[in-house]
Amino acid sequence: MISRTPFDAVVRERRVLSEHLVRLVLEAPDGLVSTGMPDEWLALTVPGQFQTRYYTVRALDEALLTIDVVVHEQGLVTEWAQTDCVGDVVGIAAPKGSFQPPPDAGWVVLAGDLTALPAMARISETVTTLPVTVHAEISDDPVQDYFARPVEWHHAEPGESALADIVRGLEWPAGPGYFWMGGESAQMREIRRHLRHDVGWDTRHYDVMGYWSGSRGRQVRAVDPGPIYAAGKVAGKSDEQIWADYDEARNT
Ligand SMILES: Cc1cc2nc3c(=O)[nH]c(=O)nc-3n(C[C@H](O)[C@H](O)[C@H](O)COP(=O)(O)OP(=O)(O)OC[C@H]3O[C@@H](n4cnc5c(N)ncnc54)[C@H](O)[C@@H]3O)c2cc1C
Repeated sequence: MISRTPFDAVVRERRVLSEHLVRLVLEAPDGLVSTGMPDEWLALTVPGQFQTRYYTVRALDEALLTIDVVVHEQGLVTEWAQTDCVGDVVGIAAPKGSFQPPPDAGWVVLAGDLTALPAMARISETVTTLPVTVHAEISDDPVQDYFARPVEWHHAEPGESALADIVRGLEWPAGPGYFWMGGESAQMREIRRHLRHDVGWDTRHYDVMGYWSGSRGRQVRAVDPGPIYAAGKVAGKSDEQIWADYDEARNT
């Protein structure tokens, strides 16, 4: 069977960034190449496990890969990342990304919970020609120096999210733009509906991704978003349709 995480990577450094966020710096394996998309993610398999989980590439230079892991109440990666994992060998896959503002976008707005912090920070560092506004929902104190630009922080109780309400209350900048959002799946579904029915944007102008599911506290089936994204693109689907397919695949 072909491994879903064909590259081996050794954890070189583990650093606690905040109460619920741990930075892991791994030795980047030969052949691991960035897509250049600032929200790119990769599949990760931790020692002793075969299931994968998905993590944003916070940074990938020639030698080092950085990922920032949210430690929540329970979970495969959560529990492993709380141990002294320096020296552990993990499996990772080639990155995939989906952040793609249309050519007429005059602004970028980002919204997400703690799991989306790495993507939002990297996007806001990478997009230099458009104004970028960031809304981050977290239960900890703001993570010091995580962003190179101002961020609007919103408080949430641990494991909970009200991002949909926050986004519904936003005043959008004038003219066409691009809205990117990542976080709890039910919140993302609500916002896709809102953008489609109430705001009426063309789907090229937003990308709303379910990163995890809080529904009934059960573990959602791990499904690689990469093949679903690639197949959706080949089929000419919008990002909105592709991420809806992904949510459905995880919940069946
Ligand atoms: C494209 C993409 C990029 C992502 N990037 C990142 C990233 O950079 N950093 C990051 O930390 N996560 C990221 N995630 C989310 C991460 O993959 C999930 O949170 C994952 O389920 C965590 O795995 P686990 O093994 O710790 O918990 P699991 O074993 O998957 O879940 C155990 C239990 O915890 C609950 N749970 C899962 N995640 C959370 C959470 N965040 N808060 C509260 N409860 C939760 C589940 O509902 C389940 O009941 C990303 C997801 C996607 C799809």
